[in-house]
Amino acid sequence: NQGIGSWPRRRARMTPKKVALTCDGRDFTYAELAERVDRLANALRGLGVRRGDRVAYLGANHNSLAETLFALGLLGAVFVPLNHRLTAPELQYILEDSGAELLVCGRSHRHMAEQLKVKRTVVDDEGGEYEKLIASGAPEPIDEEVSLGDLCLIMYTSGTTGRPKGAMLSHGNLTWNTYNLMVDVDLTSSEVTLISAPLFHIAALAQTLLPTLIKGGRSILEASFDVDRTYDLIESERVTIMFGVPAMFNFIAQSPRWETADLSSLRNLLCGGAPVPEPLIRRYQERGLTFLQGYGMTETSPGALFLSAEDSVRKAGTAGVPCFFTDVRVVTADGRDAAPGEPGEVIVQGPNVMLGYWNRPEATAEALRDGWFHSGDIAIKDEEGYARIADRLKDMIISGGENIYPAEVEEVLYGHPAVAECAVIGVPDERWGEVGKAIVVLRPGMSATAEEIIKFFDGRLARYKIPKHVEFVDALPRNGSGKILKHVLRERHG
Ligand code: ATP
Ligand code: MG
Repeated sequence: NQGIGSWPRRRARMTPKKVALTCDGRDFTYAELAERVDRLANALRGLGVRRGDRVAYLGANHNSLAETLFALGLLGAVFVPLNHRLTAPELQYILEDSGAELLVCGRSHRHMAEQLKVKRTVVDDEGGEYEKLIASGAPEPIDEEVSLGDLCLIMYTSGTTGRPKGAMLSHGNLTWNTYNLMVDVDLTSSEVTLISAPLFHIAALAQTLLPTLIKGGRSILEASFDVDRTYDLIESERVTIMFGVPAMFNFIAQSPRWETADLSSLRNLLCGGAPVPEPLIRRYQERGLTFLQGYGMTETSPGALFLSAEDSVRKAGTAGVPCFFTDVRVVTADGRDAAPGEPGEVIVQGPNVMLGYWNRPEATAEALRDGWFHSGDIAIKDEEGYARIADRLKDMIISGGENIYPAEVEEVLYGHPAVAECAVIGVPDERWGEVGKAIVVLRPGMSATAEEIIKFFDGRLARYKIPKHVEFVDALPRNGSGKILKHVLRERHG
């Protein structure tokens, strides 16, 4: 078995007594983890799970999530992690789309599981249904041939640009992504990684949990992110690596504990999903901490571009250069490599690129062309090859023949003291084809008029980029990962 399901057992041969996972105050050694995974695999087989079957998992970060992933890997079955922030109909869609007949559910989400239609559910509840299942399974290793090319998991994209699509990731995709990360991050066997970002997204799972386990380090799994708890854990557990999105690191830096906390154990801060704002980079640098940043997506397991610690300040604002085993090009609409400074679409090739979208042959054919995955993101490379992610192709506004990247306009608007949140979309315009429209949420107790907002851009942005319309709303529509749903805004305000 070459699959990632064999990792706990392989690691247990080397470091059986070391702690692999800490969850709810309980430690699991590698030997314990390997045995639990073997038992669970045998028990799942007893429930009828066979090679290729899909099994969904609903719940917050927990050892049962990792165990289910590995046990299914041993069986050659397919793990379908669900975003527990989704609504019941959204979850039902994914269950039906993936064809999962079994749902493993963490105790935190039993109530949600009760609203879902699925053939069978195993709940990790106080009654111990999940623990009983593990105890009922034989501890003998499963003898099933699994190769790197086999499907390991179907992970649904965040659904920012439309319905979530099931990215089919193989055991090899996840293995090579782990190698990519290990090339760029100096991981050691004494790593203590704090995982409070959700494991149902690819970043926490593949950029933190899997690399920590392959090295024989320890991962602390937290059900959710809490600033105070993060400080407590860093200090008491001597955390060495933390993965998060920029917003999490911002909350940490805003805390009153920032000045006094002992952060000396931290070696690496891994950050992805969005660019880290420069002021935040500087704030952490003052405390001797640097960010390792990355750009990626579910479809590339996820690492595509990586910005190392050495470059994090000098190249702030860029997402770095391609990961070691992966190639990334920025290409123009006519398919040639964009010149430095010229915008183009990011395309990715490498052993971490997905097999395709589950059940979506047209979407797969559109995304995977000539051996390259087309990301739908626009980037601009500098002279040294460092890429800055400008925006998504779908969100780009073309006004009088000029391209406008809403992300750039939004960044300026966030500098307005009365603006709490904003999003810029393109709306039809007789003269220019399209013009920008800013949808703004004001800070509580603050006021501003459309004219004032438009005036604010004067001297801060080229004239053609300045939105011609402004609309105020109470809140922006977001998906389960907190990303703003621009297509919903275009429907409502377009
Ligand atoms: P969907 O594909 O369903 O519309 P999604 O693209 O938001 O949703 P994910 O795979 O979770 O789903 O997110 C990947 C996207 O996140 C990338 O395509 C890119 O737009 C954005 N992204 C990731 N990392 C960065 C980064 N460092 N800088 C800017 N944008 C990033
Ligand atoms: Mg996407």
